[in-house]
Amino acid sequence: MYNQDNIFAKIIRHEIPADVVYEDDLVLAFNDISKAAPIHILVIPKGEFTNFVDFVQKAKSDEVADFFKKVSKIAKKADIKKEGFRIISNIGDNAHQTVEHFHVHILAGRKLGPLLVSGDTNSNL
Ligand code: AMP
Repeated sequence: MYNQDNIFAKIIRHEIPADVVYEDDLVLAFNDISKAAPIHILVIPKGEFTNFVDFVQKAKSDEVADFFKKVSKIAKKADIKKEGFRIISNIGDNAHQTVEHFHVHILAGRKLGPLLVSGDTNSNL
């Protein structure tokens, strides 16, 4: 169930401020309030989707394609394509999703290292 009181819904409705880097009718991108890298941008659809799976299942195919093209466009605008960057979307408790509105993190501006901390894997998986 989508909760309309989540913080990103409030940002979309302009009830709380955000450091916006891109906006159109369907997509909003803003700087993360707690940067994990020198460049840390969050990209969200304006529709009510709780996570990546919900978005892919419920959004129209055109909207899904448009969203990911805009993630790429925003990365290009941030001038991070040459040095490289990482996109992440956390889904659910194990992935530590803290805001239940679908979002993609764009991380860049330093060597990001391996995806997970070395030794952090669970050998039982
Ligand atoms: P996740 O843990 O994948 O759900 O990511 C949620 C992200 O939202 C975190 O990186 C937070 O720092 C970020 N965040 C939370 N509140 C705000 C806010 N008001 N403005 C910008 N970023 C936020």
